[in-house]
Amino acid sequence: MPISIPLVSLWLGFAATHHIPHIIAVEKRQAPDEEWHRDYDVFPNTYIDPKCTEQQIGIIKSAWYDSKLLADAQTNQQGGYDYNVPHSMWLGKDWVRWDNSHSNAAAATNRHTFAIWQNFENLKKLYAGTPTSGGNFQILWYCDDIYNACDGSTHAYYNNQQLASEDLEIHSTIFCDRFFAAESLGVQMERHKDNPRERLIIDNYETSTAVTMLHEVYHYKHLVAYPSTKDDAYHAQKCYDLAHDQGTPGVYRNADSYALDALAIYLQRHWQTVIPPAPQEWIDDYMPASDPDWENMKRFEHDGRDSVAGN
Ligand SMILES: [Zn+2]
Repeated sequence: MPISIPLVSLWLGFAATHHIPHIIAVEKRQAPDEEWHRDYDVFPNTYIDPKCTEQQIGIIKSAWYDSKLLADAQTNQQGGYDYNVPHSMWLGKDWVRWDNSHSNAAAATNRHTFAIWQNFENLKKLYAGTPTSGGNFQILWYCDDIYNACDGSTHAYYNNQQLASEDLEIHSTIFCDRFFAAESLGVQMERHKDNPRERLIIDNYETSTAVTMLHEVYHYKHLVAYPSTKDDAYHAQKCYDLAHDQGTPGVYRNADSYALDALAIYLQRHWQTVIPPAPQEWIDDYMPASDPDWENMKRFEHDGRDSVAGN
């Protein structure tokens, strides 16, 4: 089933995932009827569109299991692992800063830090099957483009529906054809596992079904993200640039930044590399391929860490 995607397409497909913040004209309640298959193996209260084929269900569930590995790496603290490096790269260097002064700036800083911490906690609990926030909810996974938003470059998109009368919040993820044609994270890792340089280029893994799934889950408003997440930047280089240029205030509500952060942590832990995977341009700058010694990671450790946390 693996479909080979040339690397160059990573940069041509500028919008791998797509988010619709508000669907105003929803007239029909999108809650599942008896034809929907409730899936007890994934998140609580998750239903799968009866229009999904068996093959599509298999791809969605594999993506979910893979995304759980990413979420676990990100949210289950492991002693001895330096979370500050990937978190600073993707969520800005103030991701954990707490300011005790009584200024407006301090309040904003603390609000961002709290939101990131809370999003991690919510994600961890949801994947563990024990969500503690979000009230009554349903998660619907569609294989049918019900809002006509699959535009060819979109892998998936999200819609949030709050039904006050029923005290119910519905999180719909619509999976597009691009998602079903994308590679799994396992296929991409297998391709690059023996190449130390390609292992460190996070762009190689950003279009995997696992990353798309986690990106969409980071849109689940209240259940995972509060305040709600947006799509200010997609993909490694743009998310890196946003964190680098605007810091934590610019990225703490950006869904792809969280997904890439989780991906970087998972890959670094899996391969035990000295630095976490980073955008290709970053690797090219700090570890030029022309340098015959670049594989000696220790040599770059100091430069790499300074540039991640300090700039
Ligand atoms: Zn999105």
